[in-house]
Amino acid sequence: MPHRIRVVQGDITRMQVDAIVNAANSSLLGGGGVDGAIHRAAGPALLDACKAWTAVHGSCATGEAVITAAGRLPVQAVIHTVGPVWRGGTQDEARLLANAYRNSLQLALDNHIGSLAFPAISTGIYGYPPQQAAQIAFATVSAFLQDHPLPERVWFVCFGEESFVLYQKLLAEQQHSE
Ligand code: ADP
Repeated sequence: MPHRIRVVQGDITRMQVDAIVNAANSSLLGGGGVDGAIHRAAGPALLDACKAWTAVHGSCATGEAVITAAGRLPVQAVIHTVGPVWRGGTQDEARLLANAYRNSLQLALDNHIGSLAFPAISTGIYGYPPQQAAQIAFATVSAFLQDHPLPERVWFVCFGEESFVLYQKLLAEQQHSE
């Protein structure tokens, strides 16, 4: 379903979509990287929403996802998901990364989200090799879109030129194979 997938280079906090995905950690209390950028842009209301969730449910397990309001971001919701820490590839990382994408998409579907933007989950502080992570991202999103009407449109937001080139290549390959 590549025609429902778009690749863009930029800052995910600027995306004008229905929801953005945050590469969070299991505490949901904010952190560095894209998580820090999202919390800074959203303001304290996002942290309050995360704390309200953790007060009831505890932490968010690796591969799981949680939806909250979005504070002052220009989106309706933030979907927080916890990608795996890369430990050499032998600790179930690929399955857990696919789960993070799939569970985020499922929450988007359940909440009638029409357009959704993903960062490259786990490829920053968590150290997942970018190419392998991007392949999992594409395969998982494509498979989900094939089976479901929502989200109608999925954006991969690449932070930097290198990531953008990689994602564009994968998108072109997929379009070619159709
Ligand atoms: P993780 O802990 O899951 O590895 P990071 O936030 O460290 O999460 O990195 C995930 C990806 O998000 C990296 O590719 C990083 O370059 C990217 N990133 C960082 N800031 C932003 C941003 N503002 N918008 C989009 N992507 C970002």
